[in-house]
Amino acid sequence: MKDYEKIWSNILDRVAVLVSTAAYEIYFMKVKPVALKDGKLILVTDPSVRNAIQRNFAGKLNMAIRESMEKIEGVVIIVKEELSSYVEEGVAESKEEFVPSIKKIVFQKNYTFDNFVIGDSNKYAAAAAKAVAEAPGTNLNPLFIYGMPGLGKTHILHAIGNEILRNHPDMRVYYTTAENFTNDLIYSIRNSNNTELNRQFQEKYRNLDVLMIDDVQFFIGKNSSQESVFHVFNDLYTAEKQIILASDRPVKELTFLDDRLSSRFASGVVADIQPPSFETRVAILQKKAFHYKIDISPEAINYLAEKEKYNIRILEGMLQTVGFFAQLNNRPVDSIEFVMEALRESSGSKTNDITMQKIVEVTCAYFKVKFQDVCGKKKTKELVEPRQMAMYLITEILPEIPLATIGKFFSGRDHTTVIHARDKMQQKTADDPIYRKKAEDIKNLVLNQ
Ligand code: ADP
Ligand code: MG
Repeated sequence: MKDYEKIWSNILDRVAVLVSTAAYEIYFMKVKPVALKDGKLILVTDPSVRNAIQRNFAGKLNMAIRESMEKIEGVVIIVKEELSSYVEEGVAESKEEFVPSIKKIVFQKNYTFDNFVIGDSNKYAAAAAKAVAEAPGTNLNPLFIYGMPGLGKTHILHAIGNEILRNHPDMRVYYTTAENFTNDLIYSIRNSNNTELNRQFQEKYRNLDVLMIDDVQFFIGKNSSQESVFHVFNDLYTAEKQIILASDRPVKELTFLDDRLSSRFASGVVADIQPPSFETRVAILQKKAFHYKIDISPEAINYLAEKEKYNIRILEGMLQTVGFFAQLNNRPVDSIEFVMEALRESSGSKTNDITMQKIVEVTCAYFKVKFQDVCGKKKTKELVEPRQMAMYLITEILPEIPLATIGKFFSGRDHTTVIHARDKMQQKTADDPIYRKKAEDIKNLVLNQ
């Protein structure tokens, strides 16, 4: 295999985890690496595929490149006509077609059991996950992992995958999110005249030894997926294959698991993950600091661990911000003052005269709703988005305000409501460019008024 082929193959492994199977097969399998030029990987494909990737998958492709750890400066996607200006003659005209294959799953390398810190909050889930990894398809089946966002569900699923493949390289282990599963299903239904594709869908899921579906709360309200999920689960379960699900909603809210399935689930294991204790947060930060090679003092670690009590993803993000700031300034993270400064810098400096009141006012003006309604107790649909957005933006712009204080500001709501709003909006802004734009617009209005 040539250098550039190897690089692309590694990047593709990451892409496979980040995009739906349909997207992977219709677009990414139609791209062919042809050269490395000035540190950039040159890829060739059809104009329509190039457009689609540039328009819809640029971010994911970039992320895949970063995660693949390949040392390249980027990729250039060209069409066949442009080949000659990028590639010396004679190098790249192997005429063979690029044969699409079934998406290969590669688990995130650093999401292992070794890298997972165990505390009281997650020890039951971790033990169940390890037992399943040792003997998939035996007694802990299905395994259902439940916990709020950022508590390590996806990490555990990948750890199971890594562990199973280490012990049984031949096992067919498949990981997908409920969203990708649904996209995949919709794609195969749309192309229902293509029997080959239908067959591939059926076989892909039914021939597995282990099926993991992450974020199954996505199935709620998606009727078309439910029947299909049911059949896939049923077939696998009957054949004593392992099923593992993760969700940020408890089982009883997952109404898509109809009675037939619920009783099946009763025979399996439900393991929930709770927010980590202070000691666990400290241990996680220490492990991550070691991993990211961040030189940080114990008091700085304690300070961070106090600052975010629930979401490990947020905790890790703060650590990375601080580490990045330290690297820029070429010094260790050795004091609380330095941590505070780093976090202040990253959240946009002049937040002095910005208050919760102001953030809510600007958000209300943006959504054209009344201040007292957004802060009030009413739960009507048109108030939900502005309220969650306002809560989220307060946590972003004024990270020093305790979540309980924010909750109080909104008619004495509980801090868990604020956490839910924050995590939900964070997910939405990450997934959906329209939401991201809304959040950015409001943030700019707040910062510049
Ligand atoms: P979830 O899927 O529950 O939203 P993730 O699995 O994506 O959460 O975890 C978010 C981040 O926190 C990941 O980077 C993960 O490695 C890290 N993390 C969560 N729990 C732990 C833990 N117990 N030990 C080490 N890292 C953890
Ligand atoms: Mg997750």
